[in-house]
Amino acid sequence: MAVSRSGAAVEDLEDAVEGGEQPASWADEREIDSFERFVRDFHAGRVNPEEFRKFRLQHGVYGQRQQDVQMVRVKIPWGGLTAAQLERLADLAERTPRGVAHVTTRQNVQYHFVPLAEAEVFMRALAEAGLTTREACGNTVRNVTVGHCAGVCPREAFDPTPYADAVARFLLRNPMNQNLPRKFKIAFSGCADDTGLTPIHDVGARAVLGPGAAGTARGFVVVLGGGLGPAPRFAEPLEPFTPAADLLPTVAAIVRVFDRHGNRENRNLARLKFVVKKLGIDAVRALVLKVREGLRATMAFPAVTPWEEQPPSPRALEASAPIAPDAACSRWRASAVLPQKQRGYAAVHVRLVRGDATGPQLRAVAALARALGDGRVRTSNQQNLILRWIPVEALPAAYAALDAVGLALPGAERLVDVTSCPGADTCQLGITSSRGLALALSETIERELPDLADAPGLRIKISGCPNSCGQHHVAAIGLYGGARKFHGEQAPTYQLLVGARLGGEAPRYARPLARIPARQVPAAVVALLALYRGERAAGEAFDGFVDRVGLERLAAVVEPWSELPPSADAPDGYLDWGADQPFALATGPGECAA
Ligand code: SF4
Repeated sequence: MAVSRSGAAVEDLEDAVEGGEQPASWADEREIDSFERFVRDFHAGRVNPEEFRKFRLQHGVYGQRQQDVQMVRVKIPWGGLTAAQLERLADLAERTPRGVAHVTTRQNVQYHFVPLAEAEVFMRALAEAGLTTREACGNTVRNVTVGHCAGVCPREAFDPTPYADAVARFLLRNPMNQNLPRKFKIAFSGCADDTGLTPIHDVGARAVLGPGAAGTARGFVVVLGGGLGPAPRFAEPLEPFTPAADLLPTVAAIVRVFDRHGNRENRNLARLKFVVKKLGIDAVRALVLKVREGLRATMAFPAVTPWEEQPPSPRALEASAPIAPDAACSRWRASAVLPQKQRGYAAVHVRLVRGDATGPQLRAVAALARALGDGRVRTSNQQNLILRWIPVEALPAAYAALDAVGLALPGAERLVDVTSCPGADTCQLGITSSRGLALALSETIERELPDLADAPGLRIKISGCPNSCGQHHVAAIGLYGGARKFHGEQAPTYQLLVGARLGGEAPRYARPLARIPARQVPAAVVALLALYRGERAAGEAFDGFVDRVGLERLAAVVEPWSELPPSADAPDGYLDWGADQPFALATGPGECAA
């Protein structure tokens, strides 16, 4: 049982807060019945494997690197969860061998090592809680994401969440979205800080008031054609201002244009960004605006009813006893707590190491959301959870409750909070164990660069292959996995990239610097960061430092870690992180865990 600093059990503080009105369910029991039938027919040989694969992906069930087990992805539109839903996710985490739920960079939750026979059990349990796996994978519009501070951010034009919710509900199970040329990702942000990372999505929508600088009407800057992967591209604006009332027809028109013009012959050239590259942004804009006009005349679009975040009903919080100076709690408050625009309340980042949380940890967060917050939680695209509406005076109690389950971690969305995709641990396309490296880097930073650990705006992101599910292109230091022979022997390596800049006039992706054997990456990264710490100008951000110092010098700094001695002299150098067996390049047919 979690205990507050005043000695009160958090459960004692609970009342029945469940976040007010419950969200409409995303689930549909009938499609789980058909999933069950499809699995039966597949086992009986009545459905061929390719047909089954497509159906399975459409329902959020991926193949894993390991035979006979699946990854089940739960779609969490805009990252929104009630405490009860989080508890259901906890129950399911405990049914998996690792006992964890994994939060992804697209605000989904994934379970690994689920036997196919169990997938239906997961789906039914999720449906009971109003959650679905539908269209979490496959050639569909994937999860609609929103920057996690939406609704409480002091800088936002307005809360984009209701609009994201409307887009997600409009497209889920919509026939126009069932057989796209490739996956399609949509993200929202509430302000120019762009925590939703709109430029890296097929469609991004940033809330603005307009039209023009003096305008006061709600609308969006809609951008299209962005994406990461081996050929990253920033999304470009569709038009200067899209009124909020036009949002659904606009998104539908972009999906329709993609459906018609996307490349169905070559999966590697199928995303919307390749349509923009081939036809040119002006031609794509013209197509979208024309299709939008047609859709407005022929399709019924539901009106969006905006809602406002409401404070939880007042509760008698026990006054915390005076707190003795505690460096750990102070560090947590400085690097994991954000003041909300609603005076007297704070949002709390719950940093999850590598995006993983156990069942007991998820239950503790759910209890805390009920006891001190608004009974809700959001997942973030930085693989964390966010508690909102925590009264500032209750922060010590929140810290104590999180600390009791190992979740009062400082440095959320800072250097020490290393992002990683699942990598070769489970993904068929994975080359290296990105999760293993993420842990090693995080520990190395805490140990060797404690003064930089909580540096804001300085992020490390890792992918286990060039596909960029770990979003390595948008990091100060990005890494993606590969392999190379040294002295005739294969070793896992990482391409090291530096200096991404998001937002502003001249955004750019991180630039390639060097290829480093996996085991030597922490030392190379420490050398780079030590140089930054020692030579940065006052207030100089890492991307500016990269420009001033130059790639050539930075490459020279990491060069000592780019080669390996023969394996007889340094056998560990040829191993991957977390491995005790020799490295082998072993990728399978990709279902891409993006
Ligand atoms: S496909 Fe995605 S999840 Fe799999 S290793 Fe590559 S980047 Fe990671």
